[in-house]
Amino acid sequence: MTRKIPSFIEIYKSLIQIPTISSENKTIDLSNKILIDLLSNYFSELNFSIQIKNIPNTNKFNMLSSFGVGRGGLLFSGHTDTVNFDENTWTTDPFKLTEKNDKIYGLGVVDMKGFFAFLLDVISSINIKKIKKPIYILATANEETDMSGARYFSKSTKIKPDCIIIGEPTCLKIINAHKGHIAYKIDIFGDTGHSSNPSNGVNSIEISYEIIKQLINLKKYIKQKYLHQDFSISHPTMNFGSIQGNAPINRICSLCSITFEIRPIPQLSFETLETLLKDTLKKIKKKWPNRIFLKNIFFPIPAYEISKKHHIVKKIENLFKIKSTTVNYCTEAPFLKKIAPTLILGPGSIDQAHHPDEYLHYSFIDPTKNILKKLIVKFCC
Ligand SMILES: [Zn+2]
Repeated sequence: MTRKIPSFIEIYKSLIQIPTISSENKTIDLSNKILIDLLSNYFSELNFSIQIKNIPNTNKFNMLSSFGVGRGGLLFSGHTDTVNFDENTWTTDPFKLTEKNDKIYGLGVVDMKGFFAFLLDVISSINIKKIKKPIYILATANEETDMSGARYFSKSTKIKPDCIIIGEPTCLKIINAHKGHIAYKIDIFGDTGHSSNPSNGVNSIEISYEIIKQLINLKKYIKQKYLHQDFSISHPTMNFGSIQGNAPINRICSLCSITFEIRPIPQLSFETLETLLKDTLKKIKKKWPNRIFLKNIFFPIPAYEISKKHHIVKKIENLFKIKSTTVNYCTEAPFLKKIAPTLILGPGSIDQAHHPDEYLHYSFIDPTKNILKKLIVKFCC
């Protein structure tokens, strides 16, 4: 049988050389359309049918390619975008696949355009006549910013696979749960005046001191109230990122801003967290009406968990003779779970993601191909 698509490494190269940075900063944010079209061409060559959908109000696209019809089957999901990079810290060209020291370097090699090279290579090597249930490949947009690709797909699709595998870099461990992420900014407005007479104004930094005290109490409360032993950090965490006042030293500071993030474990929902935060700020807001404003910054991502007792988790654990575990970073799983039970399992380490000289070690190549092949045989043949 002649191969219809380029070699594994040629495909890898072609995916890495297309810049697909997504960023909150509109001047560096890029469309992923060229990559989506390339993936579509590859999967079409393998007789997959293709659906490309524009994410409303953006220049970003999702692709769903599928082979086979009917119920069940398996969906592999990956995001097409990468984070931005700092050219002063990279020693290789981020958009040129470089092979050295038993490693493959490039932006997105593990996080996670490389996953598509693995999928294409494995699928091209399978006897497609043995496929009885559908294989789906989902390529999403904007995972690194607002996850709008996965959000949109989970709301609009009708497919019902038996299982979803997200190929984020987990060192080929099976991940059944992760923490969430939510970030806040509090703006505190005072009244300015000459510093020689503090009673001429309201100092926003002094109010911020009261707020921080209360937030630290909340931090202690959620730490002792919520516990999940499967996580290496077994409780929700809170971190203050910045505090900024705007006045010269001889003025009363009229605006102070605090930013902080919370990483909830699966038992702590956003709704509960919002209530706790509101309660925390209630007293101070009453004391200082119309001066304290809390808002979300970035896009909140819920924590995720599928029970270790779920039959799909058991099935995959048994297939590879390893136990599932947890991570502290976020994925698209909280959105894709609406479609099917979701696990995270992919080549390479998260330590290299969002890092200069991102690389995949050669030692992942064969095991990853074997794992993907086994999954397809188990769920689709
Ligand atoms: Zn990723």
